[in-house]
Amino acid sequence: MPIITTDKIWMNGEFVNWDDAKCHVLTHALHYGSGVFEGIRCYHTKDGPAVFRLKEHMRRLYNSAKIYFMTTDDRLGDETRSYGVDELCDAAKETIRENRDSLIAGNKTLNGNNEEKIECYIRPIVYRGYGEIGLNPLNSCIDFAIAVWPWGAYLSGGDDGIRVKTSSFERINSNVLPPNVKATGQYINSILACIEIKKSGYQEALLLDNRGFISEGPGENLFIIKDGKILTPPEHASILKGITRDSVMIIAKDLGYDVKETDIDRGMIYLADEAFFTGTAAEVTPIREIDNYQIGKPGPITKEIHGRFFDIIRGKVPKYMEWLDFV
Ligand code: PMP
Repeated sequence: MPIITTDKIWMNGEFVNWDDAKCHVLTHALHYGSGVFEGIRCYHTKDGPAVFRLKEHMRRLYNSAKIYFMTTDDRLGDETRSYGVDELCDAAKETIRENRDSLIAGNKTLNGNNEEKIECYIRPIVYRGYGEIGLNPLNSCIDFAIAVWPWGAYLSGGDDGIRVKTSSFERINSNVLPPNVKATGQYINSILACIEIKKSGYQEALLLDNRGFISEGPGENLFIIKDGKILTPPEHASILKGITRDSVMIIAKDLGYDVKETDIDRGMIYLADEAFFTGTAAEVTPIREIDNYQIGKPGPITKEIHGRFFDIIRGKVPKYMEWLDFV
C-alpha cells in the first residue's frame, strides 16, 4: 500500500517538509531497533476530526520508552530533549491541523470521492538517533517524530472477512522482549510471521505464545465467539494490551455480552462460531477462515460489535464521547 503523503512532519518540535524528514544512515535505531512507537487514528465526525483514545496511546508510548530507558521522571526523552505525554498529544493534534489541506486532498484520493474529510493514521516515534554506534544505547540522543497520513482499511478481505494462518514463528515472550510495549525492533518477529503467511497466500498471521496457546496477530488482538460468549487471550499469553481490544471489551460488555480473558488453544479457535481481529490499523476485522478451517462470513455478534465500534469512533454514540479527542 503506497503512502499518501501529507505536507509536514513534526520532528523534535518543528515542522519539516515531508520530503526533508530524514535521518542519518548511522542512526542507532536503524541498526538495532532501538525506537518506540505508536499507531493512532483520527476519524471524521460531524463535529470535526477526533483522535481515538489519544492519551491512552501516548501513555503506552511513555511505558514503551520507560522499558528502554528513554524517559526521565515523567517525561519521554533525556536531559537534552524531552516531552511529556500531554505535550505529545498536543503535538499530534497540531500535526493534523498543520496538514489540514493535504489530508483533505489525500482522503479524496483514498476514497475516490470529493468529500472534505480529515481522517488519518498518526505515527509518533521516539528513537535513538545519530551520534554513537554500538549496542549500548544510553549515550545516543533521543529523537522524536510524528507523521500523519490518510490510511484506509489495513486488512482487506472485503465484507466477508480475512483468511488467517498460524505462523510457525512464536510470539516474543517477556523473557526475550517485553510483549506489552511497542519497540520497533520487536516487530521483526511480526515481520517474519507476516512474510511466512503472505507467501502461503493468506491475509494475516496468527502467533502462538511460548506455551502453544493463541497469542495474537502480528499487529492485532484476537477475539473468538463460542456459544454466545466472547473470549480473548489474556495478558499472560504474551499479547500487546491493545487499546482497541480494551474498547471492544467495554463495548461488548455494555451490549450485554459475557466477555472473558482466557487461554485459547488451536482447537478452540478452529471450532469458534465467529472470530475477529482488533487493532488501530485493523480496526475490527472479521476472520472467515483459519488454517483452512471455515469460520464463515461475519456472524451476528461480530457484526453488532463492528457496527457499534464504527458508530463510536465517528462520534455517533454520546456515551463514549470521552474516547474522542477533538482536533
Ligand atoms: N498487538 C500488536 C503486536 C500490535 O502491534 C497492535 C497494534 N498496536 C495490537 C496488538 C493492537 O493494539 P491497538 O488496538 O492498541 O492498536
